[in-house]
Amino acid sequence: MVLADLGQRLHGALSQLSRASVIDDKASVIDALLKELCAALLESDVNVKLVSQLRAKVKAKVKKSLEEAEKAGGRELNKKNVVQKAVFDELVALVDPGTEPYKPTKGKINVLMAVGIQGAGKTTTCTKLAVHYQRRGFRTCLVCADTFRAGAFDQLKQNATKAKIPFYGSYTETDPVAIASLGVEKFRKERFDVIIVDTSGRHKQESELFEEMVAISGAVKPDMTIMVLDASIGQAAESQSRAFKDSADFGAIIVTKLDGHAKGGGAISAVAATKTPIIFLGTGEHLNDLERFAPQPFISKLLG
Ligand code: GDP
Repeated sequence: MVLADLGQRLHGALSQLSRASVIDDKASVIDALLKELCAALLESDVNVKLVSQLRAKVKAKVKKSLEEAEKAGGRELNKKNVVQKAVFDELVALVDPGTEPYKPTKGKINVLMAVGIQGAGKTTTCTKLAVHYQRRGFRTCLVCADTFRAGAFDQLKQNATKAKIPFYGSYTETDPVAIASLGVEKFRKERFDVIIVDTSGRHKQESELFEEMVAISGAVKPDMTIMVLDASIGQAAESQSRAFKDSADFGAIIVTKLDGHAKGGGAISAVAATKTPIIFLGTGEHLNDLERFAPQPFISKLLG
């Protein structure tokens, strides 16, 4: 089920609740709503444990609100609103780890480093990010530290040229740590506001990839490491993000390819698994296809 379908189904379930004439205390209407809600989330690849936790939390919240209203002298309570609010809040909590991501500020040099597996959309996303910050008045540049994939530098160069973003890379240097260090040092000296470092996504051994990321991170000391996560890999997003978090700690997630047939639930589960906030969504192949992410507006939009 793609994300838009999930939204429609959640919206449908909530409207059914609005149509119900009475919400009885036996809570059969609420149970039906929760059943539909959970089925939709599961079909979208949200982790089963998270879904059952959500169900329990919504139920507990509704029960508590109703009990409190009764204690307060049987004050008439709009039960539908109580249920809707509990569902909304718990869906928001699902995509909100409660930690604030790093926000680049002007007047200082902000180094951002992108990690993720090959094909996730790192190089594309780095350029999109560069365009985003440039538009907001930051002097922005790109460093290509992917020496593993043939053509990675050319791709970054092409994207950067198209977007008129200064870039750094090498056709001859094979040590990604050296390139990253030289590039970041050069741009630091030139007082760029935002320096974005693109890294490799593949190695012969996964452990080598993680070692490389740790070494690059040690060399460029990023203010924020961003994991680029392909939404279309479904449930695998969770384990993949966990593996990256364990070795190359990251402070933010960008979920890509949400424009396609991605279900999105795996990426949502990755937030909970790594307690890391999503900061942007990639919604297409073009440089402008980047949407800022915030939990409440995202869920509001999803519910329609
Ligand atoms: P990398 O190997 O992680 O650097 O990935 P690339 O940036 O080369 O992207 C891999 C493919 O995914 C390319 O064909 C991109 O155009 C495509 N891509 C990246 N982000 C998005 C997105 O948000 N939506 C869609 N539809 N395609 C994307």
